Amino acid sequence: MPRLAGRHFLQIPGPTNVPDRVLRAIDMPTMDHRGPGFAPLGKAVLEGMKRVFQTRSEVIIYPASGTGAWEAALANTLSPGDTVLMYETGHFATLWQKMALKLGLKPEFIAGDWRTGADPQAIESRLREDGAMAIKAVCVVHNETSTGVVSRIAEVRKAMDGAKHPALLMVDTISSLASLDYRHDEWGVDVTVGGSQKGLMLPPGLSFNAVSAKALAASKTAQLPRSFWDWSEMIAANRDGYFPYTPATNLLYGLREALTMLLDEEGLENVFARHQRHGEATRRAVRAWGLEVLARNPAEYSGSLTAVLMPAGHDADRLRRIILETFDMSLGTGLSKLAGKVFRIGHLGDFNDLTLMGTLAGCEMGLQLAGVPAQQAGVQAAMDFLASSHASPARAAA
Ligand SMILES: *Cc1c(COP(=O)(O)O)cnc(C)c1O
Repeated sequence: MPRLAGRHFLQIPGPTNVPDRVLRAIDMPTMDHRGPGFAPLGKAVLEGMKRVFQTRSEVIIYPASGTGAWEAALANTLSPGDTVLMYETGHFATLWQKMALKLGLKPEFIAGDWRTGADPQAIESRLREDGAMAIKAVCVVHNETSTGVVSRIAEVRKAMDGAKHPALLMVDTISSLASLDYRHDEWGVDVTVGGSQKGLMLPPGLSFNAVSAKALAASKTAQLPRSFWDWSEMIAANRDGYFPYTPATNLLYGLREALTMLLDEEGLENVFARHQRHGEATRRAVRAWGLEVLARNPAEYSGSLTAVLMPAGHDADRLRRIILETFDMSLGTGLSKLAGKVFRIGHLGDFNDLTLMGTLAGCEMGLQLAGVPAQQAGVQAAMDFLASSHASPARAAA
């Protein structure tokens, strides 16, 4: 392969582009994680992550990908044979359900169409039928990365309260944390699962649990075996800014830098508004191409990625290959039953108007090169929207 000049466009919905500042922060000598210099770092990232989750309760940081934090959420709170109610929003919800099976839980899976979010009413009626309170947890993916559909977590909480059911609420925010508004405490979530390589603008390798007092209480009696994932040893060591085993020290340097950028310099409100605006611009481009956004319900559109349906007879992976080979841009593939049928545009992380325009221009040129019937009008539609919405309210207020 000849050298490709310029930066690769990594526009998959995670891992996302890592800002140079974060790379520079990671590129420092590894320190003694038991020495006196470490505790301020440990305390700073734990405090910062509480602000990201919008919680006052415990946050756990694992040296693991997001999948590890899924396992931690289940293993710390549940016992073998426990029933958990899960919702089939797409590929990631399905993987979490498979994990629950492997761990010896009994997942009940409410079927979904992979184009809409978790239905709070369906959850409420299932919980109302559960007079014996056999269901120990309700598990929902906030931003389903395979479809670009956001589930309304505050409404799921209301549904659980409406049914007066004591199950724990667990939410996967791996592709929404620090890109879409998410409120662990206000929405009454018991365990929130997060990862480093999406909205947090870090390389893969860190994952998180935010843990309510009720989830902590459940962990005291939960019987699933756990060792690496055990919250109690983590929380005890974290109190002084340390970890029970070696943390991913250099990624924590990067996390400290990313938190400064997100919380102190840009502000979470502005981060959320930026992602919403780029989601809207992307959907306008898709419609101007004459193509269809996979997400059906406007109240569930994702600000962090858009899945685009291909016209019948055209393969999304062929389009993605042409775009990669011609313009050096990676787009997300269609996962499991969406393979070949959709491509996914990631617009989350370290991303601005011009990165979006480069991304959409690559898609529009690629559609033309691949011979996909589409209007050459999406870039213009997105530019018109971005230019007219530049002084967004969040920006003016900053
Ligand atoms: C990326 C992702 C995962 C998987 O995380 P890994 O870091 O690959 O283990 C799980 N759930 C969602 C919603 C994701 O976007």
